[in-house]
Amino acid sequence: MALAFDEYGRPFIILKEQEQKTRLSGLEAQKANISAGRAVSRILRTSLGPKGMDKMFQSPDGDVTITNDGATILEQMDVDNQIAKLMVELSRSQDYEIGDGTTGVVVMAGALLEQAERLLERGIHPIRIAEGYEMASRIAVEHLERIAQKFDFGPTNIEPLVQTCMTTLSSKIVNRCKRALAEISVKAVLSVADLERKDVNLDLIKVEGKVGGKLEDTELIYGITVDKDMSHPQMPKQIEDAKIAILTCPFEPPKPKTKHKVDIDTVEKFQTLRQQEQMYFDDMVQKCKDVGATLVICQWRFDDEANHLLMHQNLPAVRWVGGVELELIAIATGGRIVPRFQELTPEKLGRAGLVREKSFGTTKDKMLYIEHCADSRAVTIFIRGGNKMMIEETKRSIHDALCVARNLIRNNFIVYGGGAAEISCSIAVEAAADKYPGVEQYAIGAFADALDAVPVALAENSGLQPIETLSAVKSQQIKENNPHFGIDCNDVGTNDMCEQNVFETLIGKQQQILLATQVVKMILKIDDVISPSDY
Ligand code: ADP
Repeated sequence: MALAFDEYGRPFIILKEQEQKTRLSGLEAQKANISAGRAVSRILRTSLGPKGMDKMFQSPDGDVTITNDGATILEQMDVDNQIAKLMVELSRSQDYEIGDGTTGVVVMAGALLEQAERLLERGIHPIRIAEGYEMASRIAVEHLERIAQKFDFGPTNIEPLVQTCMTTLSSKIVNRCKRALAEISVKAVLSVADLERKDVNLDLIKVEGKVGGKLEDTELIYGITVDKDMSHPQMPKQIEDAKIAILTCPFEPPKPKTKHKVDIDTVEKFQTLRQQEQMYFDDMVQKCKDVGATLVICQWRFDDEANHLLMHQNLPAVRWVGGVELELIAIATGGRIVPRFQELTPEKLGRAGLVREKSFGTTKDKMLYIEHCADSRAVTIFIRGGNKMMIEETKRSIHDALCVARNLIRNNFIVYGGGAAEISCSIAVEAAADKYPGVEQYAIGAFADALDAVPVALAENSGLQPIETLSAVKSQQIKENNPHFGIDCNDVGTNDMCEQNVFETLIGKQQQILLATQVVKMILKIDDVISPSDY
C-alpha cells in the first residue's frame, strides 16, 4: 500500500494489485508448471497399453464412469491448474484430429517435461531446450516416414483394416469382443467412405446403444435406428418399400397467434368446433396419403384424435423424433424435411426398403429400424451391453476404432505399435544428436530419452522389468536393423510387432509427437505466472 495525494491535496491510498496476487517467475515458474504437467501425465501412464488400468469416476450426482480412454479420463477430471488444463487440451486435440493415441500423447508430453526439468537444473536455457525439442521432433517425424509401411487393403480385402482396429480395441475394456467390434467398425467406415477422394464422413455413422443383451449382440445396421415406436399399437410393425413423409409440422389445428376466446354454450357450437378440428386432421392425413406416403415421421406430437385417424386411414406414423435423427433419416432415405403439409410432394418422400419395429427382451422397449435406404451410406452401430457404463465405454472404444479405420483410408501408411516406432525414433534421434555441436544436442538427446517413456510405460504396465526390457528391445532393433521390435505386452512369445499385428497409423503417431512437442515448448516458454493469491 502507498499513500498519495491528488491535485487538490486530498490523500488517497494506492493498493498495489500485485500484492493481491501470487507470482512465480523464472526457474521457479518453469518448475511449478512442469510438475503440474507431469502430475497429469502420471495419472494416465498406468492406463497405457493393452494391460493398462482403467479409471473410475464418480460424478457429484452419483453417475459412475469407468474408462481407459485418455481423453475421457482427462475430461472427467476436474482440473484446476491452468497448465494441467493444457495437458487436457492436448489429449483433446489428438482426439479431434486423430481419435486414437490420446493416452500416449500425454505420456509423451510428461516425459518431455521430465527431461526438460533435468536440463533446466543443469542450467540450460529454456529457449535452447525448446529449440532442441523442435529439431528432434522434426527428425523423429521424418524418421517415422522412413520406417512407415504401405498398407494394402480394399473393399474386398478388409482383413488388414480389421487387424489395425483390433490393436486399438485390445487395450480397451471391450477387448473380449475385439474381433467382432473391429469388423463392424471397418464395415461401417467402408460403407460411408469415398475411397476415390479418400474421405470418410463419420457423421454418417450413428453409434447407438441400449442396455440389455450381450456385447456380442452388437450389430451393424445398414440404415438407421430410431428410439421410438409406432404412435399407435395397432399400426403395422413392418412396412416394405416405405415411402416416408418427414415432417416438422405438427398434426394439429393451426394455433392463432393472437389471444382469443371462443364461447361454446350450445351443443351445436361444440359439434361445429369438433367438426372443424376433424376437418383439419382429415385434410392433413389426406395430404400425406395423396402424395403416396406409407409412413409418416413427425418431429412433433399428434393429438389422440389425429393418431386414431392415422391408424384408421392405415397410415403408420412415428412421433417425437429428434431433429438430428430427422436429418439423418432424410439423408439416408433421400427424402426432404417438409415444414408444411402444403409443401408435400411425391418427390420429397424418403424411400426405404424395410421399416420395422423391433422390441427387446422383457421390457417394453421398442426401436424402429429403417433399412435398405435409398442412399445406403448412412449406417448405425447398435451396441448391446449389460449396463449403461459398458455401453458408454463401448461407444468410446468404437469411436477410436472408427477413427483408426478412417485415418488409414485417408493415409494408408502404418508404423508398428507396442513402442516399436518410439524406440526406433529414439535411436534415430540419439544418433542425430551427436551431429549438432551446440547446446541443442543435450535437448535432442533428452528428446530421445523421452521417446523411451512409451515403451517403458507399456512394459511397466504389463508387469515386465521396464529398463531391462527396453534395453533388450533397443539392442535387438539396432543389431537386426529392424524397427518392428516392440514390447510383448500380452506375452505372446515374440516381440516382433509385425507378427503380432500391432499397428498404428503413421499420421496418428506423427501427430502425437508434434502435438506433445508443441505443448511442452509452450510450457517451457512461460517464465512468469501471476495468479490470484487464494489460488
Ligand atoms: P491410447 O489412448 O494412446 O491409444 P491405449 O491405452 O490404447 O492408449 O494404448 C495404446 C498403446 O498400446 C500403443 O502404444 C499401442 O502400440 C500399444 N498396444 C496396443 N496393443 C498392443 C499389443 N497387443 N501389444 C503391445 N502393445 C500394444
